[in-house]
Amino acid sequence: MTEEFDTVLTDVPICPYCGLNHREWYFEMTEDGSYECARCGETFVVEVCHDIKFTTAKSESKAVASEA
Ligand SMILES: [Zn+2]
Repeated sequence: MTEEFDTVLTDVPICPYCGLNHREWYFEMTEDGSYECARCGETFVVEVCHDIKFTTAKSESKAVASEA
């Protein structure tokens, strides 16, 4: 019996063997590498995908000055 779990680009690492959500171990899995599942003990590979976004805004002082 083989279950398939959604393990692609998930918010937290999901064990591909048993589907365990590794939310509690999230901060130990911030580097690519092999990790051992906390529940089933199987070793699985984690690829960390960094999603970087930027937000910009006009400087408050300049916005006020332009209205004067
Ligand atoms: Zn597991």
